[in-house]
Amino acid sequence: MISSGYDAEGMIRSILGNIEYKVLESKQVFYRCSCRERMERALISLGKKDLREIIQEQGSAELVCHFCSKKYFFFKDELIKLLEKASVNI
Ligand SMILES: [Zn+2]
Repeated sequence: MISSGYDAEGMIRSILGNIEYKVLESKQVFYRCSCRERMERALISLGKKDLREIIQEQGSAELVCHFCSKKYFFFKDELIKLLEKASVNI
């Protein structure tokens, strides 16, 4: 129905046919990916050892979110902050 161009009310009207209804409230909805936080958690979960290696060998990190395909770049100082949150894994 969405690909046919129906909006929310158009769908309701189409499904309900002649049944009467009343719109109580309408809200603008949008998709927002919380991937920046997810990317940070992924880096933290690598643990101190791997994070330290990334910092020393690459100096920065670029990650791509699998949900929205957005690219995230982490600078060295940001990686160092995440390193402090990571757990020790020698
Ligand atoms: Zn995302």
